[in-house]
Amino acid sequence: MPDPLNFKQELTAVFGYPVAENPSQVMVEAAYRHHGLDWRYLTVEVKSEQLRDAVMGARAMGFRGFNCTIPHKVAVIPFLDGLGDSAKVMGAVNCVVRRGDKLIGENTDGKGFLQSLRAIMDPVGKRVVIFGAGGAARAISVELALAGAASIIIVNRDVTRGQALVSLLRAAVKAHVELVAWRGDYVVPSGVDVVINATSIGLYPDIAARLSLDTSSLTSAMVVADVIPNPPDTKLLHDARARGCQVIDGLSMLVNQGIIGVEYWTGITPNAVAMRQALEKVFA
Ligand code: NDP
Repeated sequence: MPDPLNFKQELTAVFGYPVAENPSQVMVEAAYRHHGLDWRYLTVEVKSEQLRDAVMGARAMGFRGFNCTIPHKVAVIPFLDGLGDSAKVMGAVNCVVRRGDKLIGENTDGKGFLQSLRAIMDPVGKRVVIFGAGGAARAISVELALAGAASIIIVNRDVTRGQALVSLLRAAVKAHVELVAWRGDYVVPSGVDVVINATSIGLYPDIAARLSLDTSSLTSAMVVADVIPNPPDTKLLHDARARGCQVIDGLSMLVNQGIIGVEYWTGITPNAVAMRQALEKVFA
């Protein structure tokens, strides 16, 4: 029960630029309300040249932590006191956590995905195809490899960007990693267990955009996941369901990374349903 005579809220936030359309506040504050926590999650516009001052301000004001989004996920690192294991491999931080008097950078994007996958399938020994080689692909591939996936095929249009991710993975993890230049409809090799869209194809408002994929190569033994949170029911997931695949939507990944962030900051495992419903309401 909160103390009625305590008027000091605990502060958390997301720093980004632009940031106005970032919906995290809706989801995280739903969790705070659900658990009776007098905490706030502020959506704060921070320009690149002011990131250092913003982090110093958060430190001075005793923020419990903050999320970082575009363009701060890499740039924030020099202003922090340390990094979690996967954030160190990725070289990117999306969640800063105050531990004692230190600000530690974590990356919850891939962890959120992993939590969604584990509800369906154990990643150990699995063969994975990932479309994309940007931040989301990086976060997901690093966590999957650290969790014991046997092999990862990165399929990307821009070969230079794809090669950079493959090199990063090869230097850091044991999984077998290869790059495929994405030209025409990709045929998923037989024996693959998990297929993931980690590109921005399908994101609102371009919801009719189609992933270049031969959907007849999807089998019912495969799990198909999409990072797109809005709309969560993408064309890829629609096609995958029609092929009998189990699917994971981007909203569950978004909620799970939010849950991990709230756990880091408050020590409470928040209610996933309250958080997802709050997001569904705004996306509707
Ligand atoms: P980046 O800009 O870092 O990377 C985008 C990737 O998408 C690149 O690999 C790019 O390929 C590829 N891509 C974009 N358009 C096309 C296209 N028309 N054809 C082929 N490839 C394309 O973005 P992020 O990785 O940060 O984000 C990707 C998506 O993930 C976003 O939509 C974001 O909303 C979502 N996301 C979801 C999260 C969740 O919790 N659900 C968390 C984080 C991100 P190329 O290199 O060839 O340009």
